[in-house]
Amino acid sequence: MNSQNNNNLREKAADEAFCTSCGTVIKKAAEICPHCGVRQKGRILTSDVSMNWLTLLLLSIFLGIFGIDRFYAGRIGTGILKLITGSFCGVWWIIDLVLILTDKFKDSRGNVIRRESRA
Ligand SMILES: [Zn+2]
Repeated sequence: MNSQNNNNLREKAADEAFCTSCGTVIKKAAEICPHCGVRQKGRILTSDVSMNWLTLLLLSIFLGIFGIDRFYAGRIGTGILKLITGSFCGVWWIIDLVLILTDKFKDSRGNVIRRESRA
């Protein structure tokens, strides 16, 4: 009785993603879902394809004071502002760090950069 819904409920691995149509866990590289046969479009818009949350977090911790995390996310304008102001004496550095840790940091297209394990 445990086996029926395992396919949908198990957590996806780092190289996996959820099908945009049926929600089954499939390989990130897959263009067409082997389960429902629907072509995966729009997945490029989910941030975990282009932006890596862990990379962003590490950049923010070590180089966030220079705005490097914002450069990474494509937010060049605020990245430069962060760089020349020294993150307003570190205040902005802390704010961005909290935003990243709480999955609220957005890239230049307004997509939230989330942890890989989240759907
Ligand atoms: Zn599918």
